[in-house]
Amino acid sequence: MSLPYNRVYNFAPGPACLPLEVLEQARDDLVNYKGVGLSVMEMSHRSKEFETIIREAEEDLRKLLGLPESTHVLFLQGGATLQFSMVPMAFMSEGRTADYVITGTWGKKAFEAAQLVGQPTKIYDGKDSNYDHAPCLSDLKLTEGAAYVHITSNETIQGVDYLADTRLPVPVVCDMSSNILSRPIDPDAYDLIYAGAQKNMGPAGVTVVIVKDEFLQKAPAKTHPMLDYRLHAENKSLYNTPPCWAIYICGLVYKHLLAHGGLAAQAERNQAKAKLIYDAIDESGGVFRGHAQKANRSLMNITFTLANDEITERFLKEAKENGFAGLKGHRSVGGCRASIYNAFPHEGCVALAQFMRDFACRNG
Ligand SMILES: *Cc1c(COP(=O)(O)O)cnc(C)c1O
Repeated sequence: MSLPYNRVYNFAPGPACLPLEVLEQARDDLVNYKGVGLSVMEMSHRSKEFETIIREAEEDLRKLLGLPESTHVLFLQGGATLQFSMVPMAFMSEGRTADYVITGTWGKKAFEAAQLVGQPTKIYDGKDSNYDHAPCLSDLKLTEGAAYVHITSNETIQGVDYLADTRLPVPVVCDMSSNILSRPIDPDAYDLIYAGAQKNMGPAGVTVVIVKDEFLQKAPAKTHPMLDYRLHAENKSLYNTPPCWAIYICGLVYKHLLAHGGLAAQAERNQAKAKLIYDAIDESGGVFRGHAQKANRSLMNITFTLANDEITERFLKEAKENGFAGLKGHRSVGGCRASIYNAFPHEGCVALAQFMRDFACRNG
């Protein structure tokens, strides 16, 4: 097996693979961006060229997600992890609670950060089932007067995804770090979406926040500048120096997605890719066991276990020897995880599924 540039099939959970065409474009632009004589890394964030890069990135993201005019798109720093704090600091005002739905490790972290700010309410915690599914959101009992309900659309470590958008009678805040742009969404179902770029959009260093204007207006008028959503919105993400290079790469990824049919087409590709691997799990005669319940199987992070540590180690070792990198699962779930974000190639899924079938035959 030989991939262009001797690359490997990279199943890493994040930072993760990017489209090869995007890397090639970035390489071609690296030293002298469009003839302006310098690199995007060396360019003023106030320059005309960068102004165009960030505005096009925003427009293309709006196009992909079908965002209405009344939403703001922000390119911030601090990762999704800063959003765990910034959201409650801005919106869980004094004396109010906010509801948290915990379907895995990241939701739990978001809840714990909110506890440092005030008194959030845990309205669902999937701990007892080892976070193997997501609840039906419209069945949950929301807390009267809650400022928002926080969900994690795809739990990256457990591989659990709602696979649907649910409109609720309270503002919904969603950590979409690991499945944003993996399928079309109903933008109306979310008042604030945040996502670190390094799973499905670009390199680490930029966090996209998409917030409805109506919700934004509930944030305090003045707070520490870097924590001030309104200030970032008023300045169109240029209050201070933004992560210019990361935004530029995200912009290339958005153009790449648009050129390949947008999110509906991407969702079809993602379904086909995930099916290859889930089928290999389900048809392995129990050699591989999927972690997530079928109704909530993530199309981005496929989690599975083997019977014991010895066989798991052997599987990972043989996989590595065959050019499959990054399959070791997170220690909290154990076993293996194949992260197959948008940019992960279909042929890589075909190859892994075949390898898993062979392994199951030899070890069944
Ligand atoms: C990776 C991840 C995070 C953490 O992102 P950082 O950018 O490292 O802060 C948060 N939530 C989800 C769902 C993730 O996958």
